Amino acid sequence: MFFKGVPASHGIAIGSAFLLKVEELRHAKRLLESSEQAELEVKRFQVAISSVRHDLENIADTMEDVVEGRQILEFLLLLLQDPTIKRDVESRILGGLVNAEYAVSTAIRGVMDKFEVMADPYIRERVADVRDVGRRVIEKLTGTEKDVLDKLQEPVVLVAKDLDPSETAGLKPGQILAFVTDMGGRTSHTTILARALGIPAVVGLQKITTEINPRDVLIVDGIHGHVIVNPTEDELRYYAGVKKKFQKAEKLLQKMNQEPAVTEDGVRIELAANIELPYEVELVNKLGADGIGLFRTEFLRLIQENGENEEDHFTIYDTVASRMKPKPVIIRTYDMGGDKFRTGLNSAPEANPFLGYRAVRIGLDRPQEFSIQLRAILRASVHGNIRLMFPMVTHVEQLRRLRDLLEKVKDELRADEIAFDNDMQVGIMVETPATVIALDLMLPYADFVSIGTNDLTQYSLAVDRGNPRVADLYDSFHPAVLRQIDTVVRLCHSQGKWVGVCGSMAGNPLAVPLLIGFGVDELSVAPSLIPDVKKMIGVVTTYAAREMAEKSLVTETGLGVRALVHSYVIGKYPEILLDENDWKTGG
Ligand code: PEP
Ligand code: MG
Repeated sequence: MFFKGVPASHGIAIGSAFLLKVEELRHAKRLLESSEQAELEVKRFQVAISSVRHDLENIADTMEDVVEGRQILEFLLLLLQDPTIKRDVESRILGGLVNAEYAVSTAIRGVMDKFEVMADPYIRERVADVRDVGRRVIEKLTGTEKDVLDKLQEPVVLVAKDLDPSETAGLKPGQILAFVTDMGGRTSHTTILARALGIPAVVGLQKITTEINPRDVLIVDGIHGHVIVNPTEDELRYYAGVKKKFQKAEKLLQKMNQEPAVTEDGVRIELAANIELPYEVELVNKLGADGIGLFRTEFLRLIQENGENEEDHFTIYDTVASRMKPKPVIIRTYDMGGDKFRTGLNSAPEANPFLGYRAVRIGLDRPQEFSIQLRAILRASVHGNIRLMFPMVTHVEQLRRLRDLLEKVKDELRADEIAFDNDMQVGIMVETPATVIALDLMLPYADFVSIGTNDLTQYSLAVDRGNPRVADLYDSFHPAVLRQIDTVVRLCHSQGKWVGVCGSMAGNPLAVPLLIGFGVDELSVAPSLIPDVKKMIGVVTTYAAREMAEKSLVTETGLGVRALVHSYVIGKYPEILLDENDWKTGG
């Protein structure tokens, strides 16, 4: 289940739901193991009833002069002690071996249903009183009252219809991972307080309290205003990554550096950032990156539950482009499939997903759907700094069809009199040996190239990039990969096309001198790596880099290549970033 609300306070939280002040009666069913346990549940129920009675009597005492108020409370007290309801709850617990909260919620809903169909409007209106009593009992049982927040055993995601500013002020960040509410807006006091406390929050979700059950697992994305209820493994993994990234980025803000990336001998190197989420732009700008070298757009699939929506795409591309202006932003079209977001595809399981239905193969198979993304990218291109990039292109005819489709979408925009950048650069990713070998045939259809070393390594070495059992064989410093990079750069430059590297190799400090040496025009790395990479660029001369790159092409092993670079940078570059265990392995 996915909900979209107002992003009130930045951050990502993953945790179980804790319902506060939620009027609707629902509670997760828990089966008990024995009738002894059921007896204990009945006791718990009876204690809850007397505790609520005590509360109601206290409230009634404060209403001495308010006769109607006292009458209402007396009625509530009557309901609370109604023997029929009590018996009903107890027999549900004992007969069905279920927890007390569940028994109360079902019994009370049964009573409410009966009241609702009564002809007498007075009785019909008593539904609210029944619900009130039921809620109070359940709150006692589950401990979802306000003051129990202090007694929480573990951090939770707070779910409420609304929170008063004073309640929000009392929330402790360590205890409350995030909060989500039905009501509220971006500028409410509650929102402002949440930000001040650093608690991620999504508000204005309208009816989320009726959809969430206690202990449901929630992902709260306070950056985009998304709440995912009981996420899939895919989603959990994805958001765990995003959360890590966010925390890292927050820390990094403290040591940001706006200086451009320049080699020791004064040569300026284009250093761009890879982003997956629009909010990262802020950090990218603060770190002084030269642009976005790869904007992965797959996350858009996650937030569009009911199929593709042009406006969702457009808003995000438009925001990123305008915030980065005039620096370039390379938007990569959907790269679904393989290891990414298979769940959204509705396609049959495949024996070899990495060799299967993925990226532009899907786009070309579903041109109608794909055009929505292309149209949104084109619309946002009016800013003049957007570049479009197609992933996983392996066949020239694919590239021709992709360009034809793009032209068709352009024609439609022209017919609708919608502006776009007619000179928008269109590039391709080089991610397979086929693309490297046949690149001369593809370049006439591409304005630039970006090497995706993650996939290029996987496909060149026939090593699944996500399989830990073969991780020791996965090596972007393998001569086969390095030689392909060298070939691509030479070919592109001979044709007057620029070439970047956006795979994670570009963010590996030891690979940086090599890539500079091969003549790569742009390095695009995860934002958090920008300071490290910038530092590495600063300790290398272009001459030494070229020499190392040349030597690397005739070095037998990846380890040998690393040792080569390591011996050059040692003493110039912080040791901690070249950790012994790290520098010898991995891509
Ligand atoms: C790559 O393959 O190197 C790349 C940048 O794309 P992704 O990691 O998104 O597959
Ligand atoms: Mg890739």
